[in-house]
Amino acid sequence: MEKFTIIGGGIAGASLGYHLKQHGHSVTLYDRNDAGNATEASAGIINPWVSQRRNKKWYRLVTKAAEYYPSFISRLERETELETGYTQRGAISLFKDDEVLELGFNRISKKKADAPEMGEVLKLSREEVKQRHPYLNDSYPGVYVEGGAQVKGALLRDALKNAFVSNGGEWIEGEAPAPGDDHVTIYATGAWGVEQDFGPAVRHQRSEVLHFKVEAPEVVHTPVVMALGPIYIVEMGANEFAIGTTHIDTESFDDSPSEENHRYLRGLAERYFPDHAITDIKMMTGFKPYARDHLPFIGYHDDRTFVINGLGATGLTAAPYIGREAARLLSGLPTSLDLDDYSYMEPEN
Ligand SMILES: Cc1cc2nc3c(=O)[nH]c(=O)nc-3n(C[C@H](O)[C@H](O)[C@H](O)COP(=O)(O)OP(=O)(O)OC[C@H]3O[C@@H](n4cnc5c(N)ncnc54)[C@H](O)[C@@H]3O)c2cc1C
Repeated sequence: MEKFTIIGGGIAGASLGYHLKQHGHSVTLYDRNDAGNATEASAGIINPWVSQRRNKKWYRLVTKAAEYYPSFISRLERETELETGYTQRGAISLFKDDEVLELGFNRISKKKADAPEMGEVLKLSREEVKQRHPYLNDSYPGVYVEGGAQVKGALLRDALKNAFVSNGGEWIEGEAPAPGDDHVTIYATGAWGVEQDFGPAVRHQRSEVLHFKVEAPEVVHTPVVMALGPIYIVEMGANEFAIGTTHIDTESFDDSPSEENHRYLRGLAERYFPDHAITDIKMMTGFKPYARDHLPFIGYHDDRTFVINGLGATGLTAAPYIGREAARLLSGLPTSLDLDDYSYMEPEN
């Protein structure tokens, strides 16, 4: 049994703590729960196959992570008897016209050969989009991926914390003390990685999401929507949705919502849901942590210091699997992912 200290209890730290306890280690986790932590603001979409991003290391990580999700969630929910907000109702990617739809369908359906967990991949006419998501406008055709899912970041983190503590882990709310030399310290500090004076260099993007309620006579459960551009719409509760997101690179940790972003997101919500009255619930702001090449860093800084950071825009998808793999590495066990791919050195200046 080894002794570990984890700094940071967002999804990265909570997942690692949970998995380390399964190997029987002694683990203490410190978390400040800073305002704007990415895990609480997250939309929680798990649908990596539709991305146009070409980075192979990233794609390998997130697709293996999506494959791990269902078994991970069912074990965690069984162990804790807590909800994580995980639902697998598929995901629709919208396209601006039929020509682009054809290209999108060909690109996405090809991925299925290596990812059977995508389930059915279907081309949807405008009418078929509306049948699957009656609140949406009927302006765009889409591609439906049956395996698309979503999870609620805060609930998932709380379930991981509950299992971690039940298994003997110590979760301490507050600032982490200076690291001792009788144990390995793991930094999973998200955007606050800028406070560490060792690599990887972490920067962050501030993103805002609008949560709103739709007036409708009945409750219809809907798939995740990857709308045009970087916009997505996810169901958050009975006739409650979140639409996002705005992106801005910043060094600030001010999480107060901006009036301009609120107007922009509200306008989009009205455009995508034109037939329903909409009431605002709240704006959420989160700081997405990025490292080099938008690729997570998972590895040792020195033999007593390990870092998991830079989870970026797909951290809620990736973190359960990263936690499992990193816990195996830290336990001296073989991993199914080659973690050398994610412990890259910073380029020399
Ligand atoms: C608006 C938004 C939408 C998103 N949508 C999606 C999505 O749809 N799908 C997806 O897969 N991902 C999504 N993400 C990304 C995902 O949420 C993040 O990648 C992930 O939550 C990062 O987790 P983390 O644990 O690294 O960081 P965080 O969740 O930010 O947690 C870091 C924690 O470390 C603590 N901490 C830092 N320093 C210290 C210290 N010295 N002592 C004690 N505690 C400390 C902080 O207080 C904080 O609680 C989204 C993110 C945002 C912001």
